Amino acid sequence: MIENLQSFEPATGALLWEGLQGDVDTEVERAASAWPLWAAQPVTTRMEAMRRFANAVRGREDTLCDLIARETGKPLWEARMEVSSVIARVDMHISAYSERTGQKRMDGAMNSRQSVRHKPHGVVAVIGPYNFPADVPAGQIIPALIAGNAVVFKPSEKTPASGAMLIELFYEAGVPRDVVRLLVGGPDEGKALVRHEGVNGVLFTGSARTGIAINRALGAYPEKIVALEMGGNNPLILWDTPDLAAAAAIIVQSAYGTSGQRCTAARRLIVKDSLTSGIIAELRKLIARLIVGPPHASPAPFMGPVIDNETADGLGESFMALMSMGGRPLVHLGRPDATRPFLTPALIDVTQVVERPDIELFGPILQLIRVENFDDAIKEANATRYGLSAALIGGSPQHYEQFWRQVRAGIINWNGPTFGIGGSAPFGGVGVSGNHRPAGGHAADFCAYPVTSSEADQP
Ligand code: NAD
Repeated sequence: MIENLQSFEPATGALLWEGLQGDVDTEVERAASAWPLWAAQPVTTRMEAMRRFANAVRGREDTLCDLIARETGKPLWEARMEVSSVIARVDMHISAYSERTGQKRMDGAMNSRQSVRHKPHGVVAVIGPYNFPADVPAGQIIPALIAGNAVVFKPSEKTPASGAMLIELFYEAGVPRDVVRLLVGGPDEGKALVRHEGVNGVLFTGSARTGIAINRALGAYPEKIVALEMGGNNPLILWDTPDLAAAAAIIVQSAYGTSGQRCTAARRLIVKDSLTSGIIAELRKLIARLIVGPPHASPAPFMGPVIDNETADGLGESFMALMSMGGRPLVHLGRPDATRPFLTPALIDVTQVVERPDIELFGPILQLIRVENFDDAIKEANATRYGLSAALIGGSPQHYEQFWRQVRAGIINWNGPTFGIGGSAPFGGVGVSGNHRPAGGHAADFCAYPVTSSEADQP
């Protein structure tokens, strides 16, 4: 049954967008009909189309930033960073595709010529999350299209407007309408899409709960390539450092940036016991100064609202649950207006982290854990099924070496926030954070498969 889908501005509750839910069969069939012709074009033609896409984004940058800020609630300055990243991805993926899939020739036996070249999979489903509604899918749609696939993109049901505008910009750039399709819908459309027999590959970004469900559903389809980018329960270890104020600034950025709605946000602050009272004092000072407000407010807020009231309610319940398990609030989670999902950052001293992979603390709540020695800090850091990002602040080069070797995470930072590293570096995690690296410069590995061929003259 085709129904309407609506999206609302988290900051005001105003209706932002309304549209019909898509039909999975129609979108997959249209993409399936288009990909052979798209794949037959020279790769340089497809790369040129992507350069035109970057220009189309530049031409509508203000509108896209405004829309992302309204639909996600993130501050306008952050939406601008997201859109700059979309533009930068084009050149990065063009070079990465050439580097990773360029034709390789080898000496063959019996005077044959051997080479390795890459072919697209066909129709690739890109399923996106709400927190980076343009940058995350662009990071998969662009390499998929360069490689010669057609794409059916299903944005989050919470951010269909940003998803729709992204796809319009591919059309403005001259990408044929059937080569990249927008599928408006929620979990039901996502479920049907990944199982559809016309879909050859699935590039998913979202929660571990959904990723695990997709993994189960696709157990019966080993012929599909599946890459899962999921959440995190990211640790940040604070060790000996002369400047706790500077450390606090990095911690605040890691835990509360994007209202904590980043897959790489710090969730657990593991502190050398002797530093605890000092860092709590610095964090309290900084948190008290953070501005939480609507995305377009002036002065610019550090944080906007979380995505919706239901999410804010869930985070409130999670915070209460941490307290009922013995957690001691150092800074309470605040909700100044019960009718809107603005939350103020929280810090809670917990003796023990109880992790539930079905519930990610996806918001501005940071748990503090005290440890006596560095081995215990590493043990705490690894006490998780996730493994996306991790950071160490302070410590010696020996501490860093031990941290790098022993902490299970795909992204490691020293004296910087837990966030990912941009550019052509691979992006992703281990454990229930992800099974491959379909984001960043290594996306080409999932968008095309290598074919080894041997050619000889006619006998
Ligand atoms: P979500 O898992 O709720 O939804 C993600 C997408 O999956 C949506 O489009 C949704 O409609 C779809 N979906 C839901 N159920 C499905 C099913 N059974 N089959 C197929 N598709 C289904 O995630 P979210 O709340 O939109 O996004 C936040 C999550 O994304 C957080 O967990 C965050 O850590 C993660 N995330 C990860 C990365 C990364 O690169 N690792 C980046 C951004 C966000």
